[in-house]
Amino acid sequence: MERYDIAIIGTGPGGLEAAITAKVRNKNVLLLGSKTSSLKVEKAHEILNYLGLPNIKGSDLQKAFLSHAESMGVEITDDRVIAIYPLGDYFGIQARDGMYEASSIILATGVVMSKPYPGENEFLGKGVSYCATCDAALYKDKVTAIIGSSPKEEEEANFMSEYASKVLYFPLYKEETSTNDKVEVIHETPKEILGDTIVHTLRTDQNDYTVDGVFVLREAVSPGQLLSGLETSGPHVVVDINMTTNIPGVFACGDIAGTPYQYIKAAGQGNIATLSAVNYLTTLKK
Ligand SMILES: Cc1cc2nc3c(=O)[nH]c(=O)nc-3n(C[C@H](O)[C@H](O)[C@H](O)COP(=O)(O)OP(=O)(O)OC[C@H]3O[C@@H](n4cnc5c(N)ncnc54)[C@H](O)[C@@H]3O)c2cc1C
Repeated sequence: MERYDIAIIGTGPGGLEAAITAKVRNKNVLLLGSKTSSLKVEKAHEILNYLGLPNIKGSDLQKAFLSHAESMGVEITDDRVIAIYPLGDYFGIQARDGMYEASSIILATGVVMSKPYPGENEFLGKGVSYCATCDAALYKDKVTAIIGSSPKEEEEANFMSEYASKVLYFPLYKEETSTNDKVEVIHETPKEILGDTIVHTLRTDQNDYTVDGVFVLREAVSPGQLLSGLETSGPHVVVDINMTTNIPGVFACGDIAGTPYQYIKAAGQGNIATLSAVNYLTTLKK
């Protein structure tokens, strides 16, 4: 398996700037995230404070970011990271579509604003999962609930319907859904995940649903769930001024590294995170 110098997780301004800097420093970089960058960029109405690009619409800033990255030869691997494992002098990265390896990691996943559902942490791995395509085969002929934070997650629900006997899909967004006929779309608000040794019920604001598994599909997984042992403070990863975390070889930038939540700050920190990763790689070689 190819071992990358730097794996960057997240394709918002933090991750894209980190990847561009890695290219400038001639590093072998893997950028994992969304080919369309970040919803937090795309959806912004008007941005007044991005240097050199006054009064720009989010969708135009998104285009500018992506075309800059492309012009530098940055490729985005459209995949979602589920977990990262330190393995001595490198890291194993488990993602929805496969495994990857890298000598260093930059976390640029943005911040998860929502709290976990009651029962979510307790039943993680016991019926609660964050990746439908990874675990679908385990739910053959079973009933699953999928909580989708954006229309992108409908693809996961469709995939699950090829295995499960029943798929209940709970969209948390306003856009119309377009899942296949086998997916039952339910417009209720999930409140709690219940079980004994494993999950048996998803409770919403209106009903209890008997299920074998609950898939919680958010834009980002909380950092502590992504990498065990990572020092966190609330939804953030604790970093120093060099964007270094408590785990050697792991760096963080952007919203995940704390407030203020700003594009230019995310991009600036992405630059620092890569320069710190480059220094780390030099030390590693010695
Ligand atoms: C509506 C709105 C308007 C805003 N307006 C402004 C403004 O005017 N000025 C300003 O400075 N800031 C503004 N912000 C804040 C700004 O959007 C954020 O500070 C910025 O986007 C943070 O960038 P980031 O790179 O840290 O993360 P994000 O932009 O959140 O990007 C993170 C990316 O990582 C991906 N990701 C997450 N987890 C994983 C995973 N496990 N595997 C793979 N990929 C993953 C996500 O899908 C996402 O694409 C606004 C935010 C919103 C929501």
